[in-house]
Amino acid sequence: MRQSRRHFLTGLCGCGVLCGSGGLAWAGGGSLPSLLAPAYRPSDSDERGLWMQMEKAEQDLRNSNLRIHDPALNKYLTDLTCEIVGNYCPDVRVYVVRTPYFNASMAPNGMMQIWSGLLLRCRNEAQLAAVIGHEAGHFLRQHGLQQFRSIKSKTALMNVLALPLAVVGGSAAVQLGQLAMIATMFSYSREHEREADQFGLQLLEERGYQPSEASAIWRQLVAERDASFAARGKKTPSEPLIFATHPQSAERMETLAAAAAGITKPGRQYSAGPDRFAAVMKPHRGAFLEDQVKLNDFGGTLYLIDSLKDDGWPGELGYYRGEVYRRRGDPGDLQQAISHYRTALAFPDAPAVTHRSLGYALIKTGDKEAGRQALRQYLALTPDATDRAMVEFSLQ
Ligand SMILES: [Zn+2]
Repeated sequence: MRQSRRHFLTGLCGCGVLCGSGGLAWAGGGSLPSLLAPAYRPSDSDERGLWMQMEKAEQDLRNSNLRIHDPALNKYLTDLTCEIVGNYCPDVRVYVVRTPYFNASMAPNGMMQIWSGLLLRCRNEAQLAAVIGHEAGHFLRQHGLQQFRSIKSKTALMNVLALPLAVVGGSAAVQLGQLAMIATMFSYSREHEREADQFGLQLLEERGYQPSEASAIWRQLVAERDASFAARGKKTPSEPLIFATHPQSAERMETLAAAAAGITKPGRQYSAGPDRFAAVMKPHRGAFLEDQVKLNDFGGTLYLIDSLKDDGWPGELGYYRGEVYRRRGDPGDLQQAISHYRTALAFPDAPAVTHRSLGYALIKTGDKEAGRQALRQYLALTPDATDRAMVEFSLQ
């Protein structure tokens, strides 16, 4: 899965006239780069072939087991994307993919993927808007097409693009691999990345979001990466894989922060975005955290859980904190897990499974009666538990 830790980005199209009609302007100063026209269609055979493959890939994505169908989440992301891209709204389609890595991508035909791991890591709507604006930048500036045209062996590329056709109905892992592979074919140059960042920042400012949130998300990712390596007793490599397709993360963070300061207008009110982000995420955060915990990234996951604690769901976070320790299983971890489960259960939002985890952990440490009591509590709270038979067996 290492390659899927990259922030895969695609984005191909082609036209070339300045299109200010979408309410999109350019903050980079100097001459304005051209944007593709709304409702753009491919203009030559190369591009038509590319779009055709992307449309087939999109069909696979539409039917993928990994797709999250929740109408509220999909509507929110589609509406937000439309607010950000303005007149280009009909050209972009958003798909939410359930996978715990930080990633978003935009295909040449306007197919946009947002991965659940990215949603889990956005601290507010402004950060999500920064990512969408960045992807929009790749799309509207036709970075993917430029990249495609610079690739010498187009035949090889087209063969790879054809691969998803063979895996309709394949396993989730295979599907994910295919989607990731398409995206990696278009790793962008630093120039393209900087341009997309600048573009995203401009959109952020225009829409009244706090521009500094664009650099904040990178600061968080760098801190998570450091925590992940520190927990494994390793020094952070100078440029880990997660950032392999992007400019040096620290440099990017600093460039974005400086650009945000430059773009911020004195006296204008900016915000981190409306509370609707937290409301839409609420029904999903447990599942997203569950996926994250299963990565067995001890330091990174604890960092992430800590970074979420200001959002006010101490019971749920406490349960997952316990799970992180339980899964690592180093000496003393089970006691730590028990302690976190107990802390979590003091809050009304602790999920019922906290009792189950606590019960099994207590039994394992020899406190059998307290463990059984916790398991009985779990069964009492979840009459429809799918693992009821197994838990009842443990109680005998
Ligand atoms: Zn990018």
